[in-house]
Amino acid sequence: MDSPTTDEGERDQESRDATPIGGILGDLIAAKADLEARNEALQLVNDLTWRLQKRLDVEAIAAETVDLLARHSQAPLVAFYLLEGEEGPLRMVKGHGFNEREMQLGAVLPLVGSASGLAVRERRIVMVRHGSIDEGGAHPVVTALAERGLSTGLCIPLTHGDSPLGTVNLIFPEHRVLRPLEVDTFHGIARAVSLAVANARLVADLEHLAFHDLLTALPNRAGLHRWFTRLVEGGGGSSPVGLVLLDLDRFREINDTLGHSVGDDLLVQVVSRLVSGSDGRRDDVFRLGGDEFGIVIPGARSLAEVDVAARRMLAALSQPLRVGGMGLEIGASAGVALFPDQGRDSHELLRCADVALHRAKRTSGSVASYARELDEHTPERLAMLSELGKAIREGELVLHFQPKVALQYGFIEGFEALVRWRHPRLGLLAPGRFVPFAEATDVMQPLTSWVVRNALEQLARWNRQLPRLTMAINLSTRNLLDRSCPDALAGIVREVGVEPGLVEFELTETAIMADPETAMTVLARITATGSRLAIDDFGTGYSSLAYLKRLPVDVLKIDRSFVADMATGSRSRAIVQSTVQLAHSLDLGVVAEGIEDRESARTLREMKCDLAQGFYFAPPEPAEIAARHVEKGGWLDVPV
Ligand code: C2E
Ligand code: MG
Ligand code: MG
Repeated sequence: MDSPTTDEGERDQESRDATPIGGILGDLIAAKADLEARNEALQLVNDLTWRLQKRLDVEAIAAETVDLLARHSQAPLVAFYLLEGEEGPLRMVKGHGFNEREMQLGAVLPLVGSASGLAVRERRIVMVRHGSIDEGGAHPVVTALAERGLSTGLCIPLTHGDSPLGTVNLIFPEHRVLRPLEVDTFHGIARAVSLAVANARLVADLEHLAFHDLLTALPNRAGLHRWFTRLVEGGGGSSPVGLVLLDLDRFREINDTLGHSVGDDLLVQVVSRLVSGSDGRRDDVFRLGGDEFGIVIPGARSLAEVDVAARRMLAALSQPLRVGGMGLEIGASAGVALFPDQGRDSHELLRCADVALHRAKRTSGSVASYARELDEHTPERLAMLSELGKAIREGELVLHFQPKVALQYGFIEGFEALVRWRHPRLGLLAPGRFVPFAEATDVMQPLTSWVVRNALEQLARWNRQLPRLTMAINLSTRNLLDRSCPDALAGIVREVGVEPGLVEFELTETAIMADPETAMTVLARITATGSRLAIDDFGTGYSSLAYLKRLPVDVLKIDRSFVADMATGSRSRAIVQSTVQLAHSLDLGVVAEGIEDRESARTLREMKCDLAQGFYFAPPEPAEIAARHVEKGGWLDVPV
């Protein structure tokens, strides 16, 4: 068979139709055009998917989508609607090409009585034309658009799983018949946008849960840190802010004797007193822990002023509270401190307020202001520091190893190395007693090197029996701010001769957020050497989750506080569940920490959490004891 040799553009219609060869040629041209159109459509969907991957908020997703469709769809008007609640209405998040009146008329559309609503309800593309008698054609915005010759609208539904999310609407001047390829393309676009919106919502829910307390709906400790971070970033870092740290006196007793529901009611009432004590400003009151509250006093000029505010709060609590038909009297104590004089960030400020609170508690019902003389720990700190350098050199540090279990299979995937100090006078010290001191000084580098080398030497020994066994090692903020850290780590991995992919470094969100830009560079260099990265204590930090997407992270470790509360707290359960989902949708592994019973292990397995670590499986143990797991081929002592 002859194939066409000349440019097909020059072939005329007549010869194409008149002869069989012309017919074949016609088919070929049509096939080529079809292929090109398909290719273009595919590129459009890919381009959108790629752009949306980087977006974690719905406004940005809507803007990207509308922008792309305005440029490529030939529709002069494009709108992006999201459904509010299950019953609607639909609200326009982003529009392109509308005039002011149309914008007003189309800002909110009902679920019943609009074409967009119909598309959402029936989960299909709906075409609406002015003058048609269906429910969409009757909406005032359709009439308004028709007045300037825009008579046809196309509503493409956005859905994720079974849940409707909204629509993307395209408005055209004339009637259109959709070709199958266009329908496919619109479905492709809808899938990409829906997935991005669903992920953004998950992130927003998780952020809300992470920053708020479920019982009182107040922002929590992480919320307080975020409040200060925003204050400083917003340029308000030089104007003073007072902090009152308030602790109820007999709460525990009441909780234990009268029960948790009375305790919960009491806390809710305490909150309303505190809110009225701070002139009704609910946003200034934080629940930091069980019965501990923080109240910020923006614009306080002196400690004395904060002291006065604290006394007002205590007075508000001194009247009996009515709970479960009883009148309960509850006392409180408060410590106060002033930003930025006494703490340049929220962590330092809280520590100072806490020192003051301890003083206040010695005389119940009182208020104490921070003063340096109250800080008793300073000499102890200095002594500890000078001893620590020596301890590293003289072999007083030891590592304990705790297994991480693959929940679906019940075998040990690897260990986490946790450092301890065999202190000659004080006995075996947990890392919480000395790592924070090291953190503040240059001792952190030799300490980290010691831990990494010893943990990896142990891994090399165990790898002879279990070649795929991994080792997780904790790094701290100071390591991350040290640009020579990646080379030092890679050097030790090389010298010890373990496979870099079996080594996982753990970092807390707080460590990363101390200086995100430097952290990002250092983390990228660590992963470039083939080692993996995990975010430790995930959920307790106050980083923006948007950072997560930019970090070269492989694994999230859910903090044990959430796992511990999972059985009783629906908030914790929701956090764990959403974190697992979020991690998987970002293609990350998830480890849950602090599993203390079989029930939690089972729940986590059902949630499809990958790995788990906790006393239920095994506590951190010296190498010779942890080795029993390796000798048993990585199988556990207990059932999952
Ligand atoms: P982490 O990395 O989150 O380590 C887990 C901590 O949870 C360990 O405490 C472990 O003993 C404890 N844990 C494990 N399972 C359970 C459980 O089922 N229930 C409860 N209640 N606790 C459990 P540890 O060893 O005291 O370490 C505390 C923190 O100190 C670590 O938290 C880590 O951030 C830090 N740390 C430990 N070793 C090092 C180190 O070598 N370098 C650095 N920079 N930090 C370290
Ligand atoms: Mg850790
Ligand atoms: Mg942890």
